[in-house]
Amino acid sequence: MQWEIVIGLETHAQLATRSKIFSGASTAFGAAPNTQASAVDMALPGVLPVLNKAAVELAIRFGLAIGATVAPRSVFARKNYFYPDLPKGYQISQYELPVVQHGSLSFVSPEGGEKTVRILRAHLEEDAGKSLHEDFHGMSGIDLNRAGTPLLEIVTEPDLRGAKDAVAYARTLHALVRWIGICDGNMQEGSFRCDANVSVRRPGAPLGTRCEIKNLNSFRFMEQAIDYEVRRQIELIEDGGTVVQETRLYDPDRDETRSMRSKEDAQDYRYFPDPDLLPLLIAAADIERVRATMPELPQARRERFQSEYGLSAYDADALTGARESADYFEALVKAGAAEPKLCANWQTGELAAALKRDGLEIAACPVSAAALGGLLRRIADGTLSGKMAKEVFEAMWAGEGAADAIIEARGLKQISDSGAIEKLVDEVLAANARSVEEFRAGKEKAFNSLVGQVMKATKGKANPAQVNEILKRKLGA
Ligand code: ADP
Ligand code: MG
Repeated sequence: MQWEIVIGLETHAQLATRSKIFSGASTAFGAAPNTQASAVDMALPGVLPVLNKAAVELAIRFGLAIGATVAPRSVFARKNYFYPDLPKGYQISQYELPVVQHGSLSFVSPEGGEKTVRILRAHLEEDAGKSLHEDFHGMSGIDLNRAGTPLLEIVTEPDLRGAKDAVAYARTLHALVRWIGICDGNMQEGSFRCDANVSVRRPGAPLGTRCEIKNLNSFRFMEQAIDYEVRRQIELIEDGGTVVQETRLYDPDRDETRSMRSKEDAQDYRYFPDPDLLPLLIAAADIERVRATMPELPQARRERFQSEYGLSAYDADALTGARESADYFEALVKAGAAEPKLCANWQTGELAAALKRDGLEIAACPVSAAALGGLLRRIADGTLSGKMAKEVFEAMWAGEGAADAIIEARGLKQISDSGAIEKLVDEVLAANARSVEEFRAGKEKAFNSLVGQVMKATKGKANPAQVNEILKRKLGA
């Protein structure tokens, strides 16, 4: 019998504000411990939180980007628990009335087609501090620099049906929060982290009991952790056991999830409205003001790339992974050197590979869209073969100048003079009588060998399409 996998993701995106959500302390990463912890972040007696307006605006941006309702009135609540890195003894979060409600996000599934995940809510909350267990001789240190950093917790409905889809959704969300400028998306620094809720059931049955895997900070680990957890639950149930609702941690070294604690229920946290903070009121005019600053969204751009430039869904998706990448593509097309499809092939092929190899973001790309356009022009007009173009591209990447200058300096012009090629073909045919005979006897491979000979005689500079055509004509094929 079949099992159906059910996944809901909770994502913590650190909002890109300069100061914290309830204090004026800096949110910059990497400062010496406790140098960015104000009296509010340390929970000294008598202090009061003051809401950071910039964090609210970023939450509104997100709400608009996922077609959600931005609540005209939302409420901050205290989530009570004890932990050394939480000096107040509670986290300020939103519970019953979150600022963003009921949106959705579409993503391109690796299994094919576009899928949509419902986003139940996104709420504002503060991050906790950090416990440091090294360098303290058997004791733990507490760094409160991160305490009070603004987070947006984005919660999906349990709509995802496999690890690969969960990762595709998370990647799309990651691209979106960067695209709209609300989060830097730096996963190593913890700016974007996901918890995966996983359960299994027989198709059509009610939802199974879920386990929550905490703090997945890489897409690869997310996929591995979910795959492991699904296998664990299926084996457990098939062996007659039952899944216990709990919080688990993924250990990438051993590729397994381990129980961390039994899952608290909401009632364990004794949520109640924070009496130190007024309800958050957002007027329609505030929302419109934010709406006026929204960029064209990735989804719209994906669709436009298909309708306006005739790209495939796959190419359109690859090119809209980041706003800078989509901008680069449009600049490349506007350079007017080549068809959009050739532009897309080069950007998602050669250029993407070189960026990856050198660990660069497209914003730091050493070859500008205008410069790449110059190279594509020479492919489109037949000056360069594909192979030569790759050589020129590498030279451009290394800083040797514009495509035309490199072609000139290296003598890389493709031979497209049909008279010259005819002469070469005649010579090759005369010198390779055996291949000619084999070809006439029906051996297809012999033809390729003849093409190879001509290409060799020109050091690869002959236009291969022309060589093919002339050879075929001469052989009467
Ligand atoms: P909590 O706040 O305790 O983590 P929620 O009810 O808010 O619990 O759910 C958190 C996440 O778990 C949501 O993303 C939701 O879609 C997902 N979820 C809920 N039930 C299941 C289930 N049976 N299987 C998988 N995911 C689930
Ligand atoms: Mg949770």
